[in-house]
Amino acid sequence: MSDKPMNKSRRDAVKTMLGGLAAVPVMNLVATAAAYAQELPAVDPATDPTAQALKYVADATTADRAAAARPGLAPGEQVCNNCNFHQPLEEDGWVACTLFPGKKVAAAGWCTSWTLQAG
Ligand code: SF4
Repeated sequence: MSDKPMNKSRRDAVKTMLGGLAAVPVMNLVATAAAYAQELPAVDPATDPTAQALKYVADATTADRAAAARPGLAPGEQVCNNCNFHQPLEEDGWVACTLFPGKKVAAAGWCTSWTLQAG
């Protein structure tokens, strides 16, 4: 490599190229997360044994949350969207849940494992 300093246009071109390369993985992650959310099947309480065992419902207002209430929030406020086991998805109204790998649950859902989100 030459000891000559790079001229400004060459330096700018290198910066642009490196900036573009750095953005590619981030863009791929965003695109992958969005695509991933759309591909996840929703948990079906009618057929999913884990959902049945945990009494998962897609509409928390239909569950007897008071009977299985956990500390941290009033039973009426306990939903998947504020549960410690949820992970946000790009898809409105849905979240991922670590208890249902590879599936999505309703953000307004609930199950007996609800635990207040940490932090
Ligand atoms: S563990 Fe939490 S996020 Fe998962 S289904 Fe139950 S209430 Fe919803």
